[in-house]
Amino acid sequence: MSECLFCKIVAKEIPAEIVHETGRTLAFRDITPQAPTHVLVIPKTHHADAATLAKADDGLADEVLKTAHEVAVIDGVSDSGYRIVFNTGPAAGQTVAHVHAHVLGGRDLTWPPG
Ligand code: 5GP
Ligand code: ZN
Repeated sequence: MSECLFCKIVAKEIPAEIVHETGRTLAFRDITPQAPTHVLVIPKTHHADAATLAKADDGLADEVLKTAHEVAVIDGVSDSGYRIVFNTGPAAGQTVAHVHAHVLGGRDLTWPPG
């Protein structure tokens, strides 16, 4: 997906502050952070959204979730608590069509979200 913003980050064509990387996932800081910890975790391969990732059925969704938790450990928010969010589709506010888990923490998070 040559025109995909997050594929370009994977390809290092666009810079990002990388927090953690595994063989199949990449975690980098959101350019507009909404909390002290705001990291995006993506599979390196292109999947449009969480539904497509789930259907991939090859353990990749599992690896994304594990990387999200590892990010929380790295940023020191795993004990205080953190939130993992997959905005999926326009009504949920998804703006980048490459599946990404938001990992948010480092402050009290309200519920329900807006
Ligand atoms: P969504 O709205 O699709 O759930 O989340 C997309 C996220 O990507 C937003 O939080 C936005 O700030 C972030 N974002 C958009 N463009 C870039 C970029 O070029 N670099 C980084 N690091 N984050 C980006
Ligand atoms: Zn992509």
